[in-house]
Amino acid sequence: MRILVVEDEKKVAHFIQQGLEEEHYTVDVALNGEEGEAMAGMGNYDLLILDVMLPKKNGIDITRALRQRKMPVPILMLTAKATTDDKVEGLDSGADDYLTKPFAFAELLARVRSLLRRGATEKTTMLLLGDLELDTVSHRARRGGKPIDLTMKEYALLEFLLRNKDRVLSRTIISEHIWEYNFDTGTNLIDVYVNHLRSKIDAGFDRKLIHTVRGVGYVMKEE
Ligand code: CA
Repeated sequence: MRILVVEDEKKVAHFIQQGLEEEHYTVDVALNGEEGEAMAGMGNYDLLILDVMLPKKNGIDITRALRQRKMPVPILMLTAKATTDDKVEGLDSGADDYLTKPFAFAELLARVRSLLRRGATEKTTMLLLGDLELDTVSHRARRGGKPIDLTMKEYALLEFLLRNKDRVLSRTIISEHIWEYNFDTGTNLIDVYVNHLRSKIDAGFDRKLIHTVRGVGYVMKEE
């Protein structure tokens, strides 16, 4: 699951990003409203966490603009203001939920999970391939009914490969999704991560699910 945090207070943005990444979400941050709207408008996010008071364009205007464009992405609004009028305005603009600063991270996380579950009624929360299952809300992976313990990056990599099963993914595509866009694909970091993942997913099983496509990249499929 990929989350965009639009928040101009760097400390708060970093706190949210770090906490969500520890929970295996992939997180991008925008530090002003215009940048946030442009990133959200690309449609690559499963959830937006949007501060209301932002430089260049506020969270309420961003929400209105996204809803006018019929973008269904769930939006959790953050604000220091806590009056009823502000909450009503936020929800009326098209936000799905509202959290007043300061907040406990556990509460933010609970709301994130709840919104992702709600949004997931259309998409499925379970990604399946053969006897491998990945729950994209709880982030639990199992193969043959046996739980698999994954690190943050391994989870992100597995989710991306599974969402694109039967499609060959180049190292560049994988690195753009999992790491930053300026990642140097000349290194073998992707191969290292894929091999870690393989040792957890495929080791000990006759039927392999992660396949190398020589000179191109990787694909997850049943043979
Ligand atoms: Ca702010």
